[in-house]
Order: sequence, then structure tokens, then C-alpha cells
Amino acid sequence: MDVIRKSAKRFFVEGRITLNEQLVGIQEKTPGDIERDQQDQIIEQKLAGIKRKILVMSGKGGVGKSTVAAYLALLLSQNGSRVGILDVDLHGPSIPRLLGGNATMEVSGQNSVSPAKVSENLTAVSLEMVLGDKDTAVIWRGPLKISAIKQFISDIEWGDLDYLFIDAPPGTGDEPLTVAQTIPDAEAVVVTTPQEIALADVRKSITFCRQVKMKILGVVENMSGFSCPHCNEKIDLFGSGGGARMSESMQVPMLGSIPVDPRMVVFGDTGRLAELAAKDDGDLNEAYRKILEKIGKA
Ligand code: ADP
Repeated sequence: MDVIRKSAKRFFVEGRITLNEQLVGIQEKTPGDIERDQQDQIIEQKLAGIKRKILVMSGKGGVGKSTVAAYLALLLSQNGSRVGILDVDLHGPSIPRLLGGNATMEVSGQNSVSPAKVSENLTAVSLEMVLGDKDTAVIWRGPLKISAIKQFISDIEWGDLDYLFIDAPPGTGDEPLTVAQTIPDAEAVVVTTPQEIALADVRKSITFCRQVKMKILGVVENMSGFSCPHCNEKIDLFGSGGGARMSESMQVPMLGSIPVDPRMVVFGDTGRLAELAAKDDGDLNEAYRKILEKIGKA
């Protein structure tokens, strides 16, 4: 396992990325430009086998964006779709923790790496799988991040997929911008929580999508209401209806609302979200099913 991790690390961190970084700033057609042109062609070929590419964004951290990306991917893969998750949250990757297991990426050829196989229908790629040590701080500037994300697309053997979910860090920085520029047919799902402070930033995510001409599938309002386990009364912990109001005022579809469910934290923290997705037959999966239905029809 360690050998695989080390060679993948050499591949991504010490190899071509470093070379690209050194070439940034040179204006004429350099070997770096030629390499990038070739990479763009490879990216186009790789993306051709992936039917839907969905960028999961949020204005703020902590609203459950990674959890939503992972849960959507798990439910679809459990229902027979071929799904990949690409974690481009380079500074705070959470996908490997949420999915659990020890699957690693494997170098499968001079210019390709296999994504980690999480289950029969689900594969994943995250920088954390390459770096190994979960406490390593990734201190990268824009060009290096752009290079890494492009390599995650061009050098990974994703194979044919029905869905590729891309988990971006909060905000509208280099990572979502690189995805928008590299994957022209990416579609965005914007995750928020109901309170105004989160919604204010989500409006920026929507404006960002419009500026880069990315199709917006809609808004998911996460942590929307909590059913008291004792009396079943619904308590709006973070307010209510903010997502719906915002979707109306910004004229973007409302995909649905997901309740606060303490099991999300327990199963997510222990890498057992797949177990929860497979067994829940209540409000949680019902909410996700409605969202998936709308995504499927979009
Ligand atoms: P983000 O990617 O937006 O930073 P995370 O997906 O890491 O957010 O989620 C932040 C925390 O919120 C995690 O502890 C996660 O388990 C929890 N969480 C996410 N969605 C829900 C939910 N519907 N109910 C309860 N807790 C949730």
C-alpha cells in the first residue's frame, strides 16, 4: 500500500506539477504550453466517457457540502449507476474520511492512475489519498492547484461513468474556476443551510456560475429542520425556507431540503455513510431521492 502511495505522490506532487509550476509566467509557446495543449486533448477524451459531471459548491464551509456530494454519489452507486467522486478540496479534503475504507489510487501506467475503488460502482480520487498523512497541510498557490486538478482529470483512468461528482472547497476560488474551465459541461449543485448568513454567500456561488456559464442544477438546503426524536415535533434549528426564498429571488431551481439528522455526523465521522445510505427508509433518504429525481430530469 505504501509503495503505491509513494509512487502516486511522486507522480502528482514531485513530478509534472513541479515542472509546470516552474514554467508558469513564460509567455511564448514553451514545452510547458505544448504539454498543456496535449493535456487538454487528453482531458477531452477522458471526459467523453463521463455522462454527467456535477460540481458540488457552497458559499460557506460547514454547510454539509462534502456530505451531500458523498451521499448523492453513494445512493446513485447503490442503485446501480457508475459513479466517481473527485475531491478538489485540496486544503481540506473530506471525501476519504466520509467514505471510509483504505482504498488507494494505483499508478497503472506511465501516464495514468486508477482511482480508488470504494465499492463495486463507486470510485474516488482525493489528494489526501496521495499524501497519506492526514495532518499534512497542503500549502499550494493557484498555479499548482490548477495543475493538480487538471491532472486529476487527465491522468486518472475514470473509465465510463454515469456521474462524476466534484467536491469543491467553499467559495469561488481557483478550484471551482479550474473545474469550470476544464469541464465545459459541468453542472452545479449549490449547497446551503437555511440561515441568511449562509445564503448571502450562496448568492455569490450562483453569480459565479452565471459568469463562467456553468449550468446550475439548483440549490440544496441542508440541515433544514430537525424532528425531535421524543415528540416528533419539527424544530427549525437554523431557520426555515431561506433556500426556497433565495432560489426564487435568484431564479434557480430548488432541488430540495435535507433534514438535520444526527446520524449523518456519527456515520460520516466513522466513514460509514454507505451503511446509512443503504439502510435509511425515512425522511433522510426520501429527501435525497427527491433531489436525485430532479437532478436526473435536469
Ligand atoms: P462542508 O463540506 O460544507 O464543509 P461537511 O460535509 O464536512 O461540510 O459537513 C459538516 C458537518 O455537518 C459534518 O460533521 C457532517 O457530518 C454534518 N452534517 C452534514 N449534513 C448534515 C445533516 N443533514 N444533519 C446533521 N449533520 C450534518
